[in-house]
Amino acid sequence: MRPGALEPKGARTPSAESVSSYLVRLAGAQVLPTATFAARHFAERLATVAYGGGRNLYGGRGVWMNGMGRWAAGMVARLHDLTGREDLAALTALPWKGVLVPGGLTANIRRWCPSCYRNMRARRGECWDPLAWFLAPVTCCALHYRPFVTHCRTCGVVQPWLPHDTAVGWCAVCGADLAENTPSAGHPVVRPYDRWSAGACGDLCAAGRAAERDPRAVVTRRDFSGTVRWLVDELDSGNRSAFSRRIGVSVHTPSRWIRSGTIRLDSLLRLCARLGLRPVDLLLRDRGIRFGPIEVEDFPRPRRRSAIDWLQVERELDAILGRTEAMSLRDAARMVGVRVNSLRKRLPEKVEELRQRAR
Ligand SMILES: [Zn+2]
Ligand SMILES: [Zn+2]
Repeated sequence: MRPGALEPKGARTPSAESVSSYLVRLAGAQVLPTATFAARHFAERLATVAYGGGRNLYGGRGVWMNGMGRWAAGMVARLHDLTGREDLAALTALPWKGVLVPGGLTANIRRWCPSCYRNMRARRGECWDPLAWFLAPVTCCALHYRPFVTHCRTCGVVQPWLPHDTAVGWCAVCGADLAENTPSAGHPVVRPYDRWSAGACGDLCAAGRAAERDPRAVVTRRDFSGTVRWLVDELDSGNRSAFSRRIGVSVHTPSRWIRSGTIRLDSLLRLCARLGLRPVDLLLRDRGIRFGPIEVEDFPRPRRRSAIDWLQVERELDAILGRTEAMSLRDAARMVGVRVNSLRKRLPEKVEELRQRAR
């Protein structure tokens, strides 16, 4: 099979497609449910990168296929075998692996913009999920300046990362049109910082293709370390604590960036927003650092480290789900030591599974 004619959508634009979306459309092009297509072509490959094998594609970790770890690399390699396409790493965060670290990179729930879905369908004939929608710091649509939608307006359920047998743009549970607006929600105000972040992450997604084509185009850890050192010298005469105050991070943070040559995406955004820089300029070699106007004034408070190990919580929930007797959500939450609301937010699929079992 060489369905290589299937072009990724939105290449070189902020709406560049994600690998999960491409997989769904590739299955659709073969007139196969995604689950059948994935079981046929991915089961073996996924068994090598993820415990639990192909089943996990649909679970909480499915988003990792759009990230920069083994899941993403495995998917890209297998899709390359299937399609012969060389440009699929740009459908993930892989081109930025090295300087960007996986922590806090991917969202923990699938989000979409109904207006974008409508436009895609009208102009391009079908919907796709842009990579930017899976990046955690992107919380609103960069084109429509509206918060993402996370629940189907008809059945109220969150969407799996990969639907078993529906096309992108349709609810995986009830089949409703996800391009329909929720009437009551309207367009709540989006903070300027979120708007700016969405645009900056869109720039990164648009540059993914160029970065993938020539790995030397992307800065190395050493380059990035040098950039931060240069910024500290230039702006605060080498005084790292003055620099940390300037960008609103803890006093040790700039030193950590310099030492490791790596940074989280949310931290890179904060750094750039505070200084009037574009993140993509800091990650691509040929861009050079240009100070522009500082476009946002209100910054979110720095994140607090979560003491909860969510992977561990998920494993414990899997163990609970693997038992024969059903357990209520409240009891399960108590057992893993996490509040019910946090569980609902972070692991919606597991909560849903628990609910189904308890019925
Ligand atoms: Zn939109
Ligand atoms: Zn639905």
